[in-house]
Amino acid sequence: MFYAEKINNLTVYCSDLLSDLNHCFTTRLEVESFSPNIIAKAWNCDENNIIHPIQTHSANVKFSEIGVKDYPDTDSVIMTNPEQMLYLKFADCTPVILYDKKANIGAIAHAGWRGTTQRIVPKTLQKMIKYSHSDVCDIYCIIGPAIGGCCYKVGEEVINGIKSSVRDYKDSVISKSDGIYVDLKGVNSQQLLEFGVPKENIDICPFCTSCRNDLFYSYRKENGTIERHYAIIKLKN
Ligand SMILES: [Zn+2]
Repeated sequence: MFYAEKINNLTVYCSDLLSDLNHCFTTRLEVESFSPNIIAKAWNCDENNIIHPIQTHSANVKFSEIGVKDYPDTDSVIMTNPEQMLYLKFADCTPVILYDKKANIGAIAHAGWRGTTQRIVPKTLQKMIKYSHSDVCDIYCIIGPAIGGCCYKVGEEVINGIKSSVRDYKDSVISKSDGIYVDLKGVNSQQLLEFGVPKENIDICPFCTSCRNDLFYSYRKENGTIERHYAIIKLKN
């Protein structure tokens, strides 16, 4: 379940499934422009160990490396080192945090419609399991704030891409009188279930970024805003 918490007077959201991982989804409350350094400070992370990839709506997954700051053309990063803090930026696209409790490794994936269609989350999971040899039952998956099936009206290219990315899309592709809507959080959750992640290991944020534009940024609702909220993780020692 998601709950609000304060980190240095900033409101963030967390999942109670991830008590073993430093993690949060930031909001737009209390800040003009958010800096991840605030969270790094609270989690005792050196500024030099903050990493963030250049997100390009790809399905490229990389492992973080100590001393490497540049992750070009990367939309999912797997962390194996507790010294580093990782963040990715979002406004409507789906943030997915993956955590392998047994091996203590974690990842954040950026799953917009392109990433979701290219199955970036199962791809990340596959790489994590190959690295740790953990069982899929040891993986926890947190699907963060994203535009909901209530607001995400899409065209044919998106519908076809989404339909080919999962076996069962009946709950995630929604026909309404004015067009077809897609629930990206639902599609990503379905991909995880079809991969074998137990349902009780998956937590889905209830907020739609467009409906709750007071809490989060929405690229659609705000006509292409450049502002972003963040998904952030740091492994515990
Ligand atoms: Zn909505």
